[in-house]
Amino acid sequence: MTTETFEFQVEARQLLQLMIHSVYSNKDVFLRELVSNASDALDKLRLEKLRDDSLDADVSDLHIELHVDKEARTLTVRDNGIGMSYDEVGQLIGTIANSGTATFLKELEEAKEGAGAEGLIGQFGVGFYSGFMAADEVTLVTRRAGERQGTRWTSRGEATYTLERVDDAPQGTSVTLHLKPADPENQLHDYTSEWKIREIVKRYSDFITWPIRMVPEAKDGEDAPEPETLNSMKALWARSRDEVSDDEYHELYKHISHDWREPLETIRLQAEGTFEYQALLFVPSHAPHDLFTRDFKRGVQLYVKRVFIMDDCEALLPPYLRFVKGVVDAQDLSLNVSREILQQDRHIRMMQRRLTKKVLSTVKEIKTKDADRYATFWREFGTALKEGLVTDSENRDAILAVSSFATTHSDDEPTTLAQYVERMKDGQDDIWFITGESRQSIENSPHMEAFRDKGIEVLLLTDAVDEVWVDAVGEYEGKKLRSVTKGEIDLDAEGEEKAGEEREKQAEEYAGLLGWMRERLQEDIKEVRLSTRLTVSPACIVSDAHDLTPALENMYRAMGQ
Ligand code: ADP
Ligand code: MG
Repeated sequence: MTTETFEFQVEARQLLQLMIHSVYSNKDVFLRELVSNASDALDKLRLEKLRDDSLDADVSDLHIELHVDKEARTLTVRDNGIGMSYDEVGQLIGTIANSGTATFLKELEEAKEGAGAEGLIGQFGVGFYSGFMAADEVTLVTRRAGERQGTRWTSRGEATYTLERVDDAPQGTSVTLHLKPADPENQLHDYTSEWKIREIVKRYSDFITWPIRMVPEAKDGEDAPEPETLNSMKALWARSRDEVSDDEYHELYKHISHDWREPLETIRLQAEGTFEYQALLFVPSHAPHDLFTRDFKRGVQLYVKRVFIMDDCEALLPPYLRFVKGVVDAQDLSLNVSREILQQDRHIRMMQRRLTKKVLSTVKEIKTKDADRYATFWREFGTALKEGLVTDSENRDAILAVSSFATTHSDDEPTTLAQYVERMKDGQDDIWFITGESRQSIENSPHMEAFRDKGIEVLLLTDAVDEVWVDAVGEYEGKKLRSVTKGEIDLDAEGEEKAGEEREKQAEEYAGLLGWMRERLQEDIKEVRLSTRLTVSPACIVSDAHDLTPALENMYRAMGQ
């Protein structure tokens, strides 16, 4: 058969170089990545067979196998899962589709000479390519379930890889690492040691729900001993809290999120009764780069009685909690459940309500107990959470209670609305805010002059969603949320009478000028008014109390309203 040679995509090549020069301090994780891929492949096959019984695939003994050949210095990870077609191998293994990884490479490029690079690298998942940390050549043989012909992929991690069709490939995928030469100084990285492999699997992949079997090497003239299953296969969410270590939870998080960093928080929920389910949710420690893009894949994994059903199940959490990752395992759903059915299912809606409340109460707990962790949470996910103030009126108070905002009161400490209200001046009736692009631009806006003069605190809101939620929420504890840029403002209720007289006099004095301005500007504005809101600037533009700002109009449109 012919062997075709292909070039890696530029980003893929960069990533491979990083792997070959082995930048990760912990090389062991390559095995976790390969096992994780194998496990995904088994999940996919079981599901596909469930949906289409006529699929020509054997699902009677789905498992992962590990083989070591000490003499040849190879380690093979094999699964009998879904496999890949010829074209898929080229697409999936030859390119980097993950936008996060592309961003990572750019950041890395920038941090190159600096000390930042080392730290950055440890944070990004590189999946399949991590094999090149331990191997100087990798061979992958795969056959897609239902297809006859298989594909062999090989690469030395340099500029190119080869593809070749093979006739005798078994169903699924096997990845063979031709391990780098042994380092006599460092036995720690001897991946031909069965003991070492066992330890890594136990540490990183114990919870994988498929058996991971070590197939012992056959000794000359003897029958090969029975394979041994290395992992306990116990679903972590089905085990009690004190049986599972934080590390184990974190490894599950890394498996399902493809994030290499520790999560910020682990949330467990066991619902008993007529509709039984278990949930294990994670709040990541960093917002993914694409959190605010249209094609962000949101949602948790759905299992039914321990059987993986789908990734990215959106129906279980509202869009504003789309950063939450995890697993939900329901006892009483059909294995054939589809996304369309889920969207309409009454039980699913109940689950969503309960999970939402649980996440929000956990955030509240973090806020009360650990200011630093809360600050991280808010920095990473506050913008997303605030969408809930608009879309989830049922939980509005709970969201407000954990929301905080930049304020003129402090340069770096955000404030909650409760804290703002506590600091309100005698006679101040409203909660004042200003919206805009950046803190700097709005702090220096002429609209702020009078507030600064009178020492009245103003919230500085710079997210697009801010314009929407202040409108939707309207008031907090009976205090109206008011924009400093909208409508007539009188901050000086006491001096009103005197001010009134004065203003009349001024109005007469300036009538000519105002009239002239009105005439000149009539195409662009509704009115020209004398103002008390300015102390230094000669003029500013204000909108009517009920006008939509341009950003707000865009936002509503984006939300389909
Ligand atoms: P990720 O797992 O984050 O998608 P990887 O680099 O680990 O990234 O794998 C890239 C893709 O290659 C996977 O998404 C999958 O489609 C495919 N793949 C990798 N390993 C296997 C396997 N053992 N069986 C089937 N497909 C695989
Ligand atoms: Mg992977």
